[in-house]
Amino acid sequence: MAKLKLGNLYKTYYKNKEPIHAVSDLNIETTDGEFVALLGPSGCGKSTTLRMIAGLEDITSGDIWIGSRKINDLHPKDRNIGLAFENYAMYPPLSVYENISFNMRAKSVPKQKIKEEVEKISELLDIKDLLHVSPSALSGGQKQRVNIARALIRRPEVLLLDEPLSHLDGKVRQKMRTEIKHLHNEIECTTIIVTHDQLEAMALADRIAIIKDGVLQQFGTPLEVFNNPANEFVAGFIGEPPMNIFSVYTKMEDGKMYFTSKNEKLQFKVPDKYVEFVQEGREYHFGIRPTDIAVIVDELPCSIDTNVTVFENLGEECRIHIKIEEDNILSIVSEEIYSFDTGDPIKIKFDTDRIHIFDVETGERIENKKVTATLP
Ligand code: ADP
Ligand code: MG
Repeated sequence: MAKLKLGNLYKTYYKNKEPIHAVSDLNIETTDGEFVALLGPSGCGKSTTLRMIAGLEDITSGDIWIGSRKINDLHPKDRNIGLAFENYAMYPPLSVYENISFNMRAKSVPKQKIKEEVEKISELLDIKDLLHVSPSALSGGQKQRVNIARALIRRPEVLLLDEPLSHLDGKVRQKMRTEIKHLHNEIECTTIIVTHDQLEAMALADRIAIIKDGVLQQFGTPLEVFNNPANEFVAGFIGEPPMNIFSVYTKMEDGKMYFTSKNEKLQFKVPDKYVEFVQEGREYHFGIRPTDIAVIVDELPCSIDTNVTVFENLGEECRIHIKIEEDNILSIVSEEIYSFDTGDPIKIKFDTDRIHIFDVETGERIENKKVTATLP
């Protein structure tokens, strides 16, 4: 176990002489034994990053360290890294046992030693009963376990997992996710998992690196990225159902600052803590999670009067959708089960401690950052 550090890492590919900036100035430093998720949409540079760490892809510039060793120029086999990709390339004619022990046998490790190691690893991954079957007889979840066993038998300092669950469906995926977390607790090996599934990242990782177009957006614990997203991209990417984000405009009325939607269907006072950060007569992007909007039954000050567009009762929770503009629907998730019909009047209230205001141009969160630009 060792910490992994990526310093100013870049990868540029060229296609028809046009550069593709797959990874740009990536800086990530893990702690010993940390479980880190690289999260982002398809094509954002996650696999490229993993392949550079493993040594399967040249680095355009930057450095990679494992502990105090700079590994940039080391051959993949000398990096002490375990790698499990999403496609489980096993040797079909060989048994699971032979697949797991392939490298040890190639290095002429004594038979007894191989047996002990395979037993240990297969116990850990619960594949003891599968050691003598052919890979073709394995289910998706079993193949993935064997795949991880093959990576772990090398006793790597760093374990890399590229979308290990993406081929699995529903329940198996859920089960395997729990197993990977359990496994990580057992082996305490610094682990980097690549995923485009925010729930998977939130459930597994100690910290999540959210990447967009090859650029790191935020590196933080699941709670940090959920509660304090650095920008609008992170805010929209983390959380299911996603955060409500829509345009609001500031205006003064009776000496108080209000946010209004474009059609003025929604109007609410700018919370005190934001008053000094927003300017009159400007557009902002306003974000609030569906769980941070309350349905008000009793009369309360500052509630918003509106009407229900769609109501869904999902048993454990209900969801209320309110069309505020042509292509803009505000969603509310409530654990308290209400009953509404389309068109019913409803009073709602935003939890003012949990609203997010973003700069329209940069997407940056503006709290604690004074807007200095002057009015046009
Ligand atoms: P992810 O794993 O996040 O889906 P990748 O790291 O595979 O994304 O790819 C990042 C970007 O680099 C994409 O635009 C992809 O098309 C491009 N890319 C990846 N591999 C190559 C390659 N060998 N040659 C050219 N472009 C590549
Ligand atoms: Mg990928």
